[in-house]
Amino acid sequence: MVSAIDNGFDTRLDQLNARILRACQECGRDRRSVHLIGVSKTKPAADVIAAHSAGVTDFGENYLQEAIDKVGQLAHLDLTWHYIGNIQSNKTKDIASHFDWVHTVDRAKIGKRLSEQRRSERPLQTLIQVNIDDDPNKGGCQAQELPELVEALASLPNLELRGLMTILSQGSDPRASYESVAQLHRAAGTLLPTAAQRGWNALSMGMSGDMEHAIAAGATHIRIGTALFGQRT
Ligand SMILES: *Cc1c(COP(=O)(O)O)cnc(C)c1O
Repeated sequence: MVSAIDNGFDTRLDQLNARILRACQECGRDRRSVHLIGVSKTKPAADVIAAHSAGVTDFGENYLQEAIDKVGQLAHLDLTWHYIGNIQSNKTKDIASHFDWVHTVDRAKIGKRLSEQRRSERPLQTLIQVNIDDDPNKGGCQAQELPELVEALASLPNLELRGLMTILSQGSDPRASYESVAQLHRAAGTLLPTAAQRGWNALSMGMSGDMEHAIAAGATHIRIGTALFGQRT
């Protein structure tokens, strides 16, 4: 794995923080309402330590075995881990036991397994992935499947349903697509019972190339890899 530490990490972090702040100012949002998730996939644990020393507390991983190794190596640090990769049913146990958040639930069966396999006292913080541009090569549910899925997941005891997540396809219009997801998020929240509605406050969207559009549309969690850790090989 290629480490980012000797390689301009501090400069990248400064530039990233300036970008986030400017994006918040341009749409009148409080900087504290946007949480940075450092996407550390393919990067070594040392990079996560460097980012943590610089104040980053949340990290996102796509590849399970790699993630489990890092979570174990860094168990002494107070980090919040987000699973942002595709979910196969035979992997739910590892996700339920090693992560604080999962962003990519797109069917009821996966949610059920995660809830059954979660052993921690803290419920797994759960986002539903929406395939906003109907891209057949990507995970995520269709917009019209959302009401049923929200209802199915809301009743699971060991999941706390927090909101939506999306990954845009190449070539889709980030402004319009992120706005559409934000609208779906508002509509889906009204379907929940009152207690659950209070926790329905997370919207995971925006990556290194398009975070400004996501912040303008209301993203609460931006998932940033390249702009923080440098190019992946
Ligand atoms: C890799 C990845 C990111 C980070 O992408 P960058 O363009 O490097 O910021 C964000 N979200 C998901 C789901 C990813 O797989």
